[in-house]
Amino acid sequence: MEIVNTFSDLGNIATHTPCLFFYGDSILVLKQQDKYTLPSYQQINFKLNIHAAFFISSNEGVQLLVADLNDTHIPNEFILENIKSIYQYFNNLERNWIAKTFGYMHWYRKHRFCGMCAGSTELDANECAMLCPNCHYHFYPKVNPSMIVLVYRGDEILLARSPHFPPEMYSVLAGYVSPGESVEETIMREVKEEVSINVKNIRYYASQAWPFPNTLMLGYYAEYASGELQIDNKEIEDAGWYSADNLPEIPRRISIARRLIANFSTLPRALPISSTTAFKI
Ligand SMILES: [Zn+2]
Repeated sequence: MEIVNTFSDLGNIATHTPCLFFYGDSILVLKQQDKYTLPSYQQINFKLNIHAAFFISSNEGVQLLVADLNDTHIPNEFILENIKSIYQYFNNLERNWIAKTFGYMHWYRKHRFCGMCAGSTELDANECAMLCPNCHYHFYPKVNPSMIVLVYRGDEILLARSPHFPPEMYSVLAGYVSPGESVEETIMREVKEEVSINVKNIRYYASQAWPFPNTLMLGYYAEYASGELQIDNKEIEDAGWYSADNLPEIPRRISIARRLIANFSTLPRALPISSTTAFKI
């Protein structure tokens, strides 16, 4: 493998090092029958034109070689596949690697120039940041918090369709946290904006990194409080109440949306004290 135009000295690379190479929103994978695998450094035995390359340690301490490709000339056994469409074929460990490295790569791509003085930036030698040598501003990796909420009314759950969804698919509501908001406030605002109803008894469930790109999904349950369903016809094109035995097509198993729906039947309806309290500054 030949690294072209790398911006850092990678030194010696172990042959078993997992390689996560991106081109736009696609990732380089080995395809054998219907199985996708991340290539090791040893398997990348062909010339690649790479714009940027660096190491990132996984949460388990595995060194991952991450690169941004300049072109798409690759051998037949390899394929560049859209990350979102291929994500489900990897195991939890590999999904964590992809989420982390694609998040960093996205951050790197967006911060090659300083937003304060418009000068060129470079990777800081001492910490994980892009540094502007001109004005000394640091740009750190960021994630975008987004709430995702299953709203229920008795034994029914609220499912809605975004115009961007695949045909026939419905899901729970979601939306990004705005500056100055608690997540609880985001939930109340977004639900009201999108389907005109009020919710109460908001309870946290779990979170999921969603690297398309850099989103942290914060999963909640909320109980219907008041109002008539009325869709906004912008972010939502259809919505309705569904029972567990009459669900439309819902998101794939890897998503926290699916887990919120699957877990609903076991959700204790009695609420813990202070479950809806958000701390204010
Ligand atoms: Zn600057």
